[in-house]
Amino acid sequence: VKYVYDFTQGDKDQKDLLGGKGANLAEMTRLGLPVPPGFTITTEACRAYLKDGAVPEELQTEVTVELRKVEDQMGRRLGDPADPLLVSVRSGAKFSMPGMMETVLNIGLNDESVLGLAAMSQNERFAWDSYRRLIQMFGKTVLDIDGDLFSDALEEMKADRNAAADTDLVAADLQELVGTFKQIVKDATGKDFPQNPREQMDLAIEAVFRSWNTERAKIYRRRERIPDDLGTAVNVQTMVFGNMGDTSGTGVCFTRDPSTGHSGVYGDYLMNAQGEDVVAGIRNTLPLATLETTDEAAYKELRAIMRKLETHYQDLCDIEFTIERGKLWMLQTRVGKRTAAAAFRVATQLVDEKLVTNDEALERVTGEQLTQLMFPQIDPEAEKVLITKGMAASPGAAVGHIAFNNAQAEQFAAEGVRCVLVRRETNPEDLPGMVAAEGVLTARGGKTSHAAVVARGMGKTCIVGAETLNINAEEGTVKVGDYVLTSDDIIAIDGSTGEVFLGEVAVQDSPVTTYLADGLEAGIAAADGDEATIDLIKSVDRILSHADKVRKLQVRANADTPVDSERAVDFGAEGIGLCRTEHMFLGERRPLVERVILSAPESTERTTALGELEVLQKGDFLEMLEVMNGLPMTVRLIDPPLHEFLPDLTSLEVKVAVAKATGQPVDPQDELMLTEVRRLHEQNPMLGLRGVRLGIYLPGLFLLQIRALSEAAAELKSKGLDPRPEIMVPLVGSVRELEIIRDEAEATIAEVASRYQVELDIPIGSMIELPRAAMTAEDLAKASDFFSFGTNDLTQTVWGFSRDDVEGVFFPTYIENSIFRVSPFETIDVHGVGRVVAEGVRRARESKPNIKLGVCGEHGGDPESIHFFAEVGLDYVSCSPFRVPVARLEAGRAAV
Ligand code: PEP
Ligand code: MG
Repeated sequence: VKYVYDFTQGDKDQKDLLGGKGANLAEMTRLGLPVPPGFTITTEACRAYLKDGAVPEELQTEVTVELRKVEDQMGRRLGDPADPLLVSVRSGAKFSMPGMMETVLNIGLNDESVLGLAAMSQNERFAWDSYRRLIQMFGKTVLDIDGDLFSDALEEMKADRNAAADTDLVAADLQELVGTFKQIVKDATGKDFPQNPREQMDLAIEAVFRSWNTERAKIYRRRERIPDDLGTAVNVQTMVFGNMGDTSGTGVCFTRDPSTGHSGVYGDYLMNAQGEDVVAGIRNTLPLATLETTDEAAYKELRAIMRKLETHYQDLCDIEFTIERGKLWMLQTRVGKRTAAAAFRVATQLVDEKLVTNDEALERVTGEQLTQLMFPQIDPEAEKVLITKGMAASPGAAVGHIAFNNAQAEQFAAEGVRCVLVRRETNPEDLPGMVAAEGVLTARGGKTSHAAVVARGMGKTCIVGAETLNINAEEGTVKVGDYVLTSDDIIAIDGSTGEVFLGEVAVQDSPVTTYLADGLEAGIAAADGDEATIDLIKSVDRILSHADKVRKLQVRANADTPVDSERAVDFGAEGIGLCRTEHMFLGERRPLVERVILSAPESTERTTALGELEVLQKGDFLEMLEVMNGLPMTVRLIDPPLHEFLPDLTSLEVKVAVAKATGQPVDPQDELMLTEVRRLHEQNPMLGLRGVRLGIYLPGLFLLQIRALSEAAAELKSKGLDPRPEIMVPLVGSVRELEIIRDEAEATIAEVASRYQVELDIPIGSMIELPRAAMTAEDLAKASDFFSFGTNDLTQTVWGFSRDDVEGVFFPTYIENSIFRVSPFETIDVHGVGRVVAEGVRRARESKPNIKLGVCGEHGGDPESIHFFAEVGLDYVSCSPFRVPVARLEAGRAAV
């Protein structure tokens, strides 16, 4: 195997092997852009290292060859005392994980080469500053030394010299600091800071490999659903310097406005600085446009490159660049991260500019982003106390107590109390707190700071650079204006405006949700004249309409009340794929069911109770069918285990025992009930008397539902409406079960039809919720007009996981151990449960090619799962009403 590729050897499509950064560096090199020479060590090498715990020997030799090539090209040697070549060693995984893994800059500097660098650059200050940065980064990331030791020493030096900024320190100060830093290394590790340049490089490469498995990287991957086994690539690249004085600098920019999609000049720039200063948000940046006055030539070249990259990638790119004494260098590019709103607006903007097609635009947005846009927002009319304003970095509204650190945020979250993480700035260590909080607020940093980038990625509300906040995390206070706030205080942050309010503030529906529910006009009205929002709504409408046009999957909803059904239809559902009827038997009606269960078969008591239930049930169906007029409505016959309709065994036992112990008379009704409840008690109710089993065991129950549904349909038909009910039988494992119910149902439907003198065509189908059902689908199909995969139960029965018990208990441990990356109840487990579904589909179509196939488990609303269902050829997905727009969009994306 080949472990190392120089930048001329790869391209942008090799992200699996070269990581995102490496693949794009190669692409830029191929485009002839000014990229400092270097090479990429593959993810494969990382995987080999993580597996064996040692660097593969071939890697060492390949690195030597590639390093020599770079040295020859640059005419300098790594760490040469007279004129050193310096390199950076950076991580770069397939999926961007901002700040999660390690980077070491300035490798090649030591006690000798620092002098060479000073002489060659004629800039002593710069040389010593570079060296102290190396020791600091290397110490922290490679040698695992507490980073505060270095930053505290730096702050001390600044205080001592009365320096306001790092840049105020002079060469001698920095040289002294290098001495201090070397001592810190020695004290912490017992060894001297390594002077051998190649040893520095090798150790840094290993540290990057290892950083794949740091706690924060793992948390980030879990959250972003990035597989744990990919590994990271490592990029070794010639250093160029943005901190060589006032004709040098470094910056980050976007090829177009990441929130509107309009092309223009967007970015931040810092003079006399290295990249980390911009990203860390330590110093406040200048707008990119100011570069035009400070260095017109570099600015013009950068603009030309931006245009070239955007044309090449046909998308918004984000770019990191450095100017070294007037010479522009490209350090990174990638298709830029963006907010959900920006994704939609940029996509339609690109269509309008004829840079991409409508199909491509659809691929540029995700269901997840649409979900984010449906989040509520701060009510503009509500009374509020504005305490400060920062930069709007990630939209939405977050309201909660102030949390000053990870521990506090996690504590709040554990208690179910909402909180907002408030930090001076964030760095990768703050990730757990960001995950636990509703939103993030920082005092420093720009739109490309760590907090902003990570929050946008997570879809968390975020405000950065609220500079009037004076945060003292140790004391747990934040001063702003005349207020001194603590974690007892509640704040509200508006990630769309950057405003921070004191106290609980009302939030309201998003205008995008109004659009989705009530149409374009209503959405635009709800936007209340806000141009950006109106533009967003129009973009969503265009893309969603295109999704509807191209998608092959139909989208239905899971709904069992008229209100939910109405909402589902408003959101674009093409029918109800699952009406769970058990809810209709709980509450006030539960005693009636209890009577059915406890009375003797064929007793008058049972018949009366069933009769009463039937009247109520017919009322339910009449309402629902009227809402769903003209659209299919799949009614699932009653499913849950019997005990849900009976009093709780333990409470009943306690009640009777207490009565006995205190010598009070025991209610004979209670005693009778206790006997029955004990008789029907199950150890594994989800595998017990439920679904079709209950229907066969208690014959009157299904029958009353079927008759109620048929009569409701017949009645509406006589009135000229178009009811389209379908009957669905749950938890079927054998075709015989289905036949028994089907025979009964057909007889009942025929009887009702003739009584009402109408034609009733009610399809009867089965759920596929058991492996046996899927594996015998060709038999079941003979007695079934349609199938709906109940992937909740199917996941439960294929894995043998009790769906009500396992998720909070051992799933986190399973995810940590990479047994799965995400709960299989959330995203379909393609390799196991998915195979069972695919096999069910194959067998069903084998005996009945035109059988209608759907899915109604929770997975029906999960973007990733929807793509799988499209792939195996289902006809529809059914999901909760709020997920319907997301499902429409994802079904469209699955089709292009
Ligand atoms: C299923 O099992 O996937 C399903 C939709 O039914 P329920 O969740 O009601 O068991
Ligand atoms: Mg089920």
